[in-house]
Amino acid sequence: MNIVYLKKGKEESLKRFHPWVFSGAIHHIEGEPEEGEVVRVVTADRQFIAIGHYQIGSIAVRVLSFVDEPIDEAFWHCRLAIAYDMRRAIGVAGNPRNNTYRLVHGEGDNLPGLVIDVYGRTAVVQAHSVGMHVYRHEVARALADVMKGVVENIYYKSETTLPFKADLGQENGFILGGSADNVAMENGLNFHVDWLKGQKTGFFVDQRENRALLERYSKDRSVLNMFCYTGGFSFYAMRGGAKLVHSVDSSAKAIDLTNKNVELNFPGDPRHTAYAEDAFKYLDRMGDQYDLIILDPPAFAKHKDALRNALQGYRKLNAKAFEKIKPGGILFTFSCSQVVTKDNFRTAVFTAAAMSGRSVRILHQLTQPADHPVNIYHPEGEYLKGLVLYVE
Ligand code: SAH
Repeated sequence: MNIVYLKKGKEESLKRFHPWVFSGAIHHIEGEPEEGEVVRVVTADRQFIAIGHYQIGSIAVRVLSFVDEPIDEAFWHCRLAIAYDMRRAIGVAGNPRNNTYRLVHGEGDNLPGLVIDVYGRTAVVQAHSVGMHVYRHEVARALADVMKGVVENIYYKSETTLPFKADLGQENGFILGGSADNVAMENGLNFHVDWLKGQKTGFFVDQRENRALLERYSKDRSVLNMFCYTGGFSFYAMRGGAKLVHSVDSSAKAIDLTNKNVELNFPGDPRHTAYAEDAFKYLDRMGDQYDLIILDPPAFAKHKDALRNALQGYRKLNAKAFEKIKPGGILFTFSCSQVVTKDNFRTAVFTAAAMSGRSVRILHQLTQPADHPVNIYHPEGEYLKGLVLYVE
């Protein structure tokens, strides 16, 4: 096996179980590993420190284990079984009212570069590293075994998540099964999952608990679900007794999905209308009828250099909501940009609130749910931030 030798003293973060080796920490490599191959990482004085997937870029190794063990069938089986046990322990799996959850959340489950979402009998596997792509069949075999009797279909969806430069000619497709049944359930509500063409793995699994909280505040309110995608927040609001729900997304396909999902849960319900329109245009032209607004935009910053513009984006967006929301209104506002810190986001929202001059109180500070765990040694894994605000 190829061996990565660290520069003297560069093992400190690995000793604290941080799962990445940066290229700058490497002294030399023995052998010529291909991208995605498993390599051993040793200190300057040849002591074993970790084993992981080699990759080309500033993160050179993503650590699979800090124990000197083979990365074989038993390894994948063990890691996936631990992940599944945890989902059962927190009640998102093995739950008759919920069959939608994240089974593997990359570093959060000690499987850097791997995401697996479960939708009923189908698991969608997504590789974010060449290493996980190379091992996709091993992962799928272990997954089928660990989830025997639960998962019958495995869809591999990594066309857009693998490093472009790796040029793997990757196509999406079923590795196991191939069911066309695409209805899944979250907290007793049904929705279609478009794992073939939809964004991410087909649904935003990470808003489950925040949607449930929104349901509690929906009674008799007029709700605007901005950036609705497949309409998740909308059908929770309807179940919660909202007076009316307007869903907005710039993508016509998202609006189709939202309408289908609302129809699936509340057939013929006249309280819901969806609009395919740009968020800023809609916020400019809308009136002041809403007293519950959700702003869940796409990541405004994917890289650190886009941070300034992203914060300006959040400021502008939230300022429009503060300007128009009815007195006594509740605003659910989110950022899913990993590079935007909790403090960055808070400052952007505070500035927007101050611009409106209104009295605003924080009711809740939200984050990602327990099936998107943050590895305590890898704080970078925390990405979803939300504030629930009461606007006088
Ligand atoms: N709230 C959703 C997830 C939102 S994802 C849920 O709970 O599932 C972000 C959405 O924003 C995408 O559906 C994307 O189509 C939409 N979007 C991106 N730019 C937009 C814009 N300028 N105006 C309106 N929608 C936009």
